[in-house]
Amino acid sequence: MRRAVFLDRDGTLNVRPPVHEYVTDISEFVWIEGAREAVALLARADYLITIVSNQRGVARGLVPLAAIRQIEKRIERDLAAVGARVVAFRYCFHAFEDACSCRKPRPGMLLDLATELDLDLERSWTIGDSETDVLAGQAAGTRTALVGSSPRRSQPDLAAASLLDAVAGIVRDPDGRAWPAQGAAAGLSTSPLLSNSETSS
Ligand SMILES: [Mg+2]
Ligand SMILES: [Zn+2]
Repeated sequence: MRRAVFLDRDGTLNVRPPVHEYVTDISEFVWIEGAREAVALLARADYLITIVSNQRGVARGLVPLAAIRQIEKRIERDLAAVGARVVAFRYCFHAFEDACSCRKPRPGMLLDLATELDLDLERSWTIGDSETDVLAGQAAGTRTALVGSSPRRSQPDLAAASLLDAVAGIVRDPDGRAWPAQGAAAGLSTSPLLSNSETSS
């Protein structure tokens, strides 16, 4: 079995649109600084790269599917340039009221991928900028990292200011023995359990 990362898209890889707005066009897709390098580090550390994203805007008619596919191509091309390959993109296109099993915080997309790709969930990571990412990852039995915002309801294994900071910690210590309690002592660039790190990106 392989290990994987389940990466959120908006707010984790690319700049998050304002709340309740969506990336509706390829022109609105902007990489967060360091995100591509972070994915490259994960690929080099032998994690399969998957991207798992709620896109309720599709159900609401605000995001065209063509834009979703164009953004995939852009992500694939830009990550290929740093030597990383995305093995799967998965989306929940449903609305809240659909009560589907795939919309994070539910773990449906992760569990489906685990079956299809024969993944070792315990050695895999879910990384995102929302509590719903953490909850989905925990429900699927993965390790979890929350980036860019401070933990509230959820208790991620790792919290960091950015994807790159989180990945620096993960590749150094995939089993999480050095943090959060000893993270600083281990010399991680990560700041475990940041108290107040709402970043604009
Ligand atoms: Mg997000
Ligand atoms: Zn769904």
